[in-house]
Amino acid sequence: MSGTRIVIMGPPGCGKGTQAKQLETAFSFVQLSTGDMLRAAISSRTEIGLKAKTVMDAGQLVSDDIMIDMISKRLDEPDCANGFILDGFPRTVAQAEGLESMLSKKEIALDAVVEVRVPDEKLVERITGRFTCSKCGEGYHDTFKKPISEGACDKCKGTEFSRRSDDNEETVKSRLKAYHDQTAPLLPFYEEKGFLRVVDGDQGMDAVTTEIKRVFEG
Ligand code: AMP
Repeated sequence: MSGTRIVIMGPPGCGKGTQAKQLETAFSFVQLSTGDMLRAAISSRTEIGLKAKTVMDAGQLVSDDIMIDMISKRLDEPDCANGFILDGFPRTVAQAEGLESMLSKKEIALDAVVEVRVPDEKLVERITGRFTCSKCGEGYHDTFKKPISEGACDKCKGTEFSRRSDDNEETVKSRLKAYHDQTAPLLPFYEEKGFLRVVDGDQGMDAVTTEIKRVFEG
């Protein structure tokens, strides 16, 4: 297994999913978004999807066992051999430990953990305004990124859009709490190991991408 292996972290709405997609294109490593995997499981009504939906709609975290198992299986797939960017995992200390042991079994290590830092007060507006094209998945925002022509996707011209059921103000508060209580403690853990790189996520999308790329290009 070769390639670059990165974790991208940050609170809900910090833009880590969008940034992970940009990096996937720029560096040809695969984006592993546990949120996307869970949403796919919900759409296809698998047992895990059914279990996860209630937890996700409450803004809480799905159990460590399920998540560790999901990522462990995904990392065994051949497309991960060229490197990967973990988006939304690990989210707890147990998951970080699970990841360490998975990687050490494969005799590989992380290259970096990127924290996309955005102040809490900006996150609620960012999250509650976002929506995506139902056909191609392109992301938009009521204030920051409207489709150029109203009602049609810039990319595929699709006319149907959807919003995540957990992107409402009440659930966002629980998601933020889960981040601060359970996920943020991983930052000092990775800092101590010398992996942590902090980027300012409180700027335009392209500026954040440039800053992250700089981390990798030195
Ligand atoms: P995200 O798309 O990363 O915002 O994730 C959406 C929701 O999926 C989260 O609020 C959690 O309920 C669940 N989720 C995603 N990744 C994880 C994870 N690594 N551990 C536990 N729950 C997760």
